[in-house]
Amino acid sequence: MRLHNYIDGQWVEPQLGRYEPDIDPANGEVVAEVPQSDAKDTQRAIQAAKKAFETWRKVPAPKRGEMLFRVGELMKAQKEDLAQAMTREMGKVVTEARGDVQEGIDMAFYMAGEGRRSFGYTTPSELPDKFAMATRDPIGVAGIITPWNFPMAIPTWKIFPALVCGNTVVFKPASETPVLAYRLVKILEEAGIPSGVVNLVFGSGTDVGEVILNDPDVALISFTGSNETGRHVAATAGQHLKRVSLELGGKNAIIVLDDADLELAVEGILWSAFGTTGQRCTACSRLIVQKGVYPELRDRLATRIRSLTLGHGLETATDVGPLITKKALDKVHRYVVLGQREGAQLVVGGHAAVTPSLHGHFYEPTLFANVTPEMTIAQEEIFGPVLSMIQVEDLDEAVRVNNQVVYGLSSSIFTQDVNRVFQAIRDLATGIVYINAGTTGAEIHLPFGGTRGTGNGHREAGTAALDFFSEWKAVYVDFSGRLQRAQIDT
Ligand code: NAD
Repeated sequence: MRLHNYIDGQWVEPQLGRYEPDIDPANGEVVAEVPQSDAKDTQRAIQAAKKAFETWRKVPAPKRGEMLFRVGELMKAQKEDLAQAMTREMGKVVTEARGDVQEGIDMAFYMAGEGRRSFGYTTPSELPDKFAMATRDPIGVAGIITPWNFPMAIPTWKIFPALVCGNTVVFKPASETPVLAYRLVKILEEAGIPSGVVNLVFGSGTDVGEVILNDPDVALISFTGSNETGRHVAATAGQHLKRVSLELGGKNAIIVLDDADLELAVEGILWSAFGTTGQRCTACSRLIVQKGVYPELRDRLATRIRSLTLGHGLETATDVGPLITKKALDKVHRYVVLGQREGAQLVVGGHAAVTPSLHGHFYEPTLFANVTPEMTIAQEEIFGPVLSMIQVEDLDEAVRVNNQVVYGLSSSIFTQDVNRVFQAIRDLATGIVYINAGTTGAEIHLPFGGTRGTGNGHREAGTAALDFFSEWKAVYVDFSGRLQRAQIDT
């Protein structure tokens, strides 16, 4: 299948006519051919979005919402097909791929409803015969730059609130997951989105992304990806005073206290650490364990990890799929070697998985024990199936260790003690906190995002998303028929 860019309501070839293969990471098969666009393609898309903004911003928000409702219905009808395409393109097990698509469906219906809410507020004026209100305004062209690990959920989290708020979109998906981006924009087209309101440009960060960051006609950038790219995005877009939202990396921890339900904790840990092969921003990569249960938890986990089945995500027996690329696999292995060199104890895994039936980028689910909080494997984002166990004396130490990394996305605690639950909720310095559940599982109507190095303070999802994609406008209506001066005429 050869994909095309979508610019001003037309499916078009990249002007240089260059394409690259999109590869199934589990078996190396070519899934699609992807346009390699350049600055000209990108500028055409930006200009189309700029032109469309003038009409789209005036479409009543409930009508914009109705369009998203149709998008949700179409996604629902295609859910299984989209999930299978996702597994083929980026490797996650199909059950998880279904969840990824479901997040998009949920977001479509939620944001469709915002078309009839998007509340502002009224407030009394300090002067007589004067009315005061605050309303939300659309902003302009939104540059949407996304990673490959949630190829449906993340684009929908950005594009749907952008649209319901009245903005137009230039969407640059990750090079590794073009098919899902293409399918999403096909659905938007089928739902009746007017020409130019959503534009899709495939290509690299340097050829397409940079143009979006630097073009003065792009008013806001919503970016999800690595800290390294995020820093560059913020610095570049900052030069142009663009509004920028960054959702970056994580080094998320699960805390297990002595009184925890260990069976439940083991399930939560396995799902959080090895789901999506550890390639979630909210993946658990640190396990902070009170000393009384440390040996038992280590042994239980080791047994369960050894029994996980690696394979193609479309096979029903598969628990863990491949890593996205050979480069990602090499990075994971470098961290594993470093962990051993720094003195951590390798309990399970630690190698690329080589079995005759697997030709993809598979890595054995890996468990390290005797990890100290300062070790590199306990500090840096590995983005693979590697879990590091750290022993602590009590909750205070657990919280200190949890907060001792540059990231602040998600954290979790397993305990039966309500007092310690509320202490943890107060003291864990992350944007998301789970009690008696793993570090993943965000629902789309709550704010999503992290503190400190995980971003720049914005939140996605829920009504928080509207705050990023709209501008507040304060309106004063004086019906007194005379000049009234605030602060002066008392
Ligand atoms: P990445 O930073 O390599 O790429 C993200 C996007 O940025 C891609 O579309 C890429 O093409 C683009 N890009 C690269 N260079 C660019 C440039 N110079 N200008 C503009 N765009 C550019 O990240 P990735 O490997 O795709 O994704 C993995 C990372 O994403 C991990 O760090 C993970 O934690 C993070 N992530 C965070 C969240 C969150 O919500 N906090 C969610 C998912 C993933």
